Amino acid sequence: MRLAVLSDIHSNIEALSACLEALKEKSVDGYVLCGDTVGYGPDPEAVIERVRALSPLYAVKGNHDLAALGEMDLGWFNAFARAAIEWTIGRLSGEAAAFLKGLPLRVETPDFTVVHGTPRDPAEEYLLTKQQFMENLGSFKASPCFVGHSHLPLYFQVLEGDRVVGDMLEGESRWRSGPLPCALNPGSVGQPRDLDPRAACAVFDTSDRTFYMLRVPYDVEATQKKIRAAGLPPFLAERLSQGR
Ligand code: ZN
Repeated sequence: MRLAVLSDIHSNIEALSACLEALKEKSVDGYVLCGDTVGYGPDPEAVIERVRALSPLYAVKGNHDLAALGEMDLGWFNAFARAAIEWTIGRLSGEAAAFLKGLPLRVETPDFTVVHGTPRDPAEEYLLTKQQFMENLGSFKASPCFVGHSHLPLYFQVLEGDRVVGDMLEGESRWRSGPLPCALNPGSVGQPRDLDPRAACAVFDTSDRTFYMLRVPYDVEATQKKIRAAGLPPFLAERLSQGR
């Protein structure tokens, strides 16, 4: 089975469309979505419509989704994120809001786990270090555990002898995960922060357990224009061309 892995789309329809187009050639059998479908970007409704049409879909909520639904305190967020969440609230149709609301905080199948932040704290904690990965090992059973939240393509893996490795996945690099627990982050579709402005997503092949990154160019300027026209903070447009 080949799974498309997408995270942190953040209401960026141009980036999402480019990724779905690139994934067409990969003949995937299903879609994993690690949360933060909305927030920051100008097209929450269009993005939710595209996401809802994906099937089969294994999707969770992220902290921005929770906040846009009034399920998380806005005090948690920085000023830019907060402004975008406040903008998003009230722009979601009843149907789109109901779809987001219906998503769980974690998905567990026999073959993989899906959360936004970390398995022990899906809404808030970032999985950035080997230490954090080790601390989270008791909080998920099925591996890989797909995560998002940091907007950075990353892998963490337990090796024989209880050694742990972890690193960034640069460009279109790949990680062949072993039989022991691993956590994989596909980076961000709609707001990459690894200084590569191309949209990021990944494919996980369950037959050889290979996770490979796709980096997809998209019309960044079109998204930036919409962000400015919507009256969202200009920094949210600027950062897209820098990938930060
Ligand atoms: Zn995010």
